[in-house]
Amino acid sequence: MNQQNRRIALASRPVGEPKPTDFRLEKGPIPEPGPGQVLLRTLWLSLDPYMRGRMSDAKSYAKPVGIGEVMTGGIVGEVARSNDPKFAPGDLALGMGGWQEYAVLDGKELRKVDPAAAPPSTALGVLGMPGMTAYTGLLNIGQPKSGETVVVAAATGPVGSLVGQIAKLKGCRAVGIAGGGDKCRALIEEFGFDAAVDHRAPGFPEKLKAACPKGIDVYFENVGGAVWDAVFPLLNDFARIPVCGLIANYNMTELPPGPDRTAAIFRAVLTKRLTIRGFIVWDFQAQAREFAAEVGGWLREGRIKYREDVVEGLDNAPQAFMGLLKGKNFGKLVVRVAK
Ligand code: NDP
Repeated sequence: MNQQNRRIALASRPVGEPKPTDFRLEKGPIPEPGPGQVLLRTLWLSLDPYMRGRMSDAKSYAKPVGIGEVMTGGIVGEVARSNDPKFAPGDLALGMGGWQEYAVLDGKELRKVDPAAAPPSTALGVLGMPGMTAYTGLLNIGQPKSGETVVVAAATGPVGSLVGQIAKLKGCRAVGIAGGGDKCRALIEEFGFDAAVDHRAPGFPEKLKAACPKGIDVYFENVGGAVWDAVFPLLNDFARIPVCGLIANYNMTELPPGPDRTAAIFRAVLTKRLTIRGFIVWDFQAQAREFAAEVGGWLREGRIKYREDVVEGLDNAPQAFMGLLKGKNFGKLVVRVAK
């Protein structure tokens, strides 16, 4: 066993875009598991947009990472030592191990990962937290019905790509918004969306309108900002808007300049009878088994696809994470920490 644990800690709270000096690579001893605990050797680390929120101490639904603490994150690891009879050395498990090569976690916080059922990294993506976000947010709040138009942005990511594919399985028209020609092509050719619109290309609002000839019935909100501005006039009466993420705003240091559009938005909420509801994936924790069974089944049957963007080595995690906030990733961003 490697004699040291290398980990990436939060060195300072970013102002605006995170920069390399906000992270610090540290070395320390490999921790010992206590009673009921398990030592995991990290194989896969998940990088997710929510981590930007944890780097900030603004009040939110979860506690921030402290300065000097290991960056938070989901991992799939191999059990190296175990003081929990449910886990044996060599087993694979999912848990919140953070950005480090070894992590000690309570056995009760871990979920076993079966490498025979699906590639282990999918426990961080399509079969994990992002997949469950897409499934529960779309079905509970979006409530898509056959023939309706469902629009989602960040559409090649793990959340967006599953939202569009579930919309198709429900008989809807799926319109994806993504940054750049390659991502838009993948939406149609890989993921089976009906239309794809590049939000970075000129004429984006007009192109989105042309892609939604019957307006928008469900807008799964992943980004906010200019994408929301283009979507807003196209919303149909009784449209549903699960508010999942606002990545366009995550590096914002102050509100953008006016005009104040609150009155226009509330007028539309009233006259069009819009449903706008924010959610955090764990609000639907009770549906975890149903999600695993249904999405796992679709994956085995080849009815849905997923795409991963694999970064090699823990040292490259900060750079990859900074890129995620700018759309440099193409698919679920995971770091292969060890083989
Ligand atoms: P992705 O892998 O899709 O990565 C984020 C993508 O956002 C980028 O690749 C980029 O795609 C897009 N993006 C970044 N900046 C902008 C911008 N200014 N305008 C438009 N698009 C932008 O991430 P996930 O699938 O993991 O997450 C998608 C969203 O879901 C995020 O907002 C995330 O915070 C949220 N989320 C919420 C959860 C909840 O419980 N509510 C749980 C999990 C995720 P492109 O190049 O195509 O523009």
